[in-house]
Amino acid sequence: MSEIIVGRIVTITIAVLGVFFGAAFGGSRSPSVAVKPIEVFQGQLGKETVRFYPSGRGTFSALVGVDLEAKPGPARVLVKGTQRAGGYRETQIALKIKPKAFEKESFSVPPEFDQLSPEMLERIHREQEQLTRVFSTSVPERLWENPFIAPVQGDISSSFGYRRVINDAPRAPHTGVDLKAPMGTEVLAVNNGRVVLVGDFFFSGNSLVLDHGAGLYTMYFHLSEFRVQEGAEVRKGEVIGLSGMTGRVTGPHLHWGARLNGARIDPFELVKKSGGMSDKAFRSDAAADKVEK
Ligand SMILES: [Zn+2]
Repeated sequence: MSEIIVGRIVTITIAVLGVFFGAAFGGSRSPSVAVKPIEVFQGQLGKETVRFYPSGRGTFSALVGVDLEAKPGPARVLVKGTQRAGGYRETQIALKIKPKAFEKESFSVPPEFDQLSPEMLERIHREQEQLTRVFSTSVPERLWENPFIAPVQGDISSSFGYRRVINDAPRAPHTGVDLKAPMGTEVLAVNNGRVVLVGDFFFSGNSLVLDHGAGLYTMYFHLSEFRVQEGAEVRKGEVIGLSGMTGRVTGPHLHWGARLNGARIDPFELVKKSGGMSDKAFRSDAAADKVEK
């Protein structure tokens, strides 16, 4: 059984070996009829779809994310395989979701971001619906290639998962990381993908979302300028915008977020797990500028 901490990701790889799941999980070998390699794998964690992709030499892999606020305990990924000829098999992979005690941070924002008028609440609701729609459109194929890179070089000013107290009231946890970035710093696409959202949002200011395919998105908030348009295909390392301080912020920075199979995950997991850097390369600096969302 794989253990996974909330907000992190795990890679599941399945060997096909010409036999439907025959040797896939080291479990019971099914009465083996040799079959042709499976054409499509798809998995499910809770209600969310997990996309597998061919990963060479008779294997299929999937990155599986576990949401920041997922309930700790056992979970299962249900995996289905479909053959070209129409055959079908399924199996389950057990995961154990482990909790994490995130640190707390407190800061203040101007009253206009705290005492919301009915018009503002209406706008926020509309924007949330728009985001929900965007997050249901990921293309099935994987567009990214390892490793992932960071969007800017700045240190972390507010870590992923921080429990937040804003203007003395407990609020939603931090669902991304804030990176130090002076106004106008070039923001890079962390991998290949498609621009699926460009817009001005109440909390996140000028916001850009990339779809990397197979259910993986990355988000870039509080930008001062966009350098790409909705629908554009971008390559890893391409400048997609400039950092800024739009939306609910207390200073210029880049908020970077990631979402995988519907789970809000620490975006640095992508860099670490794809060989882009060591766990120690980035250090959280909670004492630095306290910045928004
Ligand atoms: Zn943030």
